[in-house]
Amino acid sequence: MIKLPLKNIFILTGAGISAESGIATFRGTDGLWNNYRIEDVATPAAFNKDPSLIWKFYFERIDRIKKSKPNDGHYAIKNLISASKNIHLITQNVDNLHEKAGIKNVIHMHGDIMTAFCPKCKKKYSVTRIKRPLPICKKCNSILRPNVVWFGETPLYLEKIYNLLTKSSIFISIGTSGNVYPAAEFHLIAKSSGARTVFINLEDTGIQSDIFFLGKASIILPQLFDKWISKGYIEFNR
Ligand code: NAD
Ligand code: ZN
Repeated sequence: MIKLPLKNIFILTGAGISAESGIATFRGTDGLWNNYRIEDVATPAAFNKDPSLIWKFYFERIDRIKKSKPNDGHYAIKNLISASKNIHLITQNVDNLHEKAGIKNVIHMHGDIMTAFCPKCKKKYSVTRIKRPLPICKKCNSILRPNVVWFGETPLYLEKIYNLLTKSSIFISIGTSGNVYPAAEFHLIAKSSGARTVFINLEDTGIQSDIFFLGKASIILPQLFDKWISKGYIEFNR
């Protein structure tokens, strides 16, 4: 048995943490995502072909996210972060529910749906300040795009993320399917640098980890993290 103190923790979250707040995950039951095919709305080629359609899809998502509230899973992560040292939250989610739960400095590796930017002059905009249905850059008149990383594009902050991974003692993955790279191999990088790994998911993804909890994040995280916080350490078998 080995006891690791609550420090140097890397938390990776995916769509599963927000599912119970009413935000659809990618891989639902019928291969559609909010009634759209992913490849029709989440690629640069799709945007170049029909920016109005992409913006229709994103405005629907923005409006849904604006109305959604964090769930007990988001609040449990906030409590763990407040109780430990040197803990970093990296999310694949583009929603702002971690921030709504009170967490600052969330690393949004796939971007942030609440902002848009100009592909030409790079000016950034809050989505509350852009015109519907088709937002235009006030500086150079180009069509703005959502500030999200699409398929075929490089995720953000990778240098910082790899640096944090190699320094982590504990890697925690919550509600992510392990289908989207490079996030899908972050646990291997942490592990090869000596970290222990903890996975929480509603399905058994078959990914090898030191500890695995099967169930809903909103139920597992508050119990688990409260236990860790009261003990001050996490126990691993080896
Ligand atoms: P995914 O949709 O591929 O997988 C979601 C995972 O969460 C699944 O493994 C599922 O079993 C698990 N899950 C579902 N409900 C859960 C719950 N209540 N508790 C615990 N686990 C639960 O999502 P992904 O792995 O994050 O990767 C897909 C991509 O989807 C990312 O790039 C992300 O940017 C994008 N995405 C983001 C959002 C969002 O911002 N909320 C929503 C959909 C997709
Ligand atoms: Zn511009």
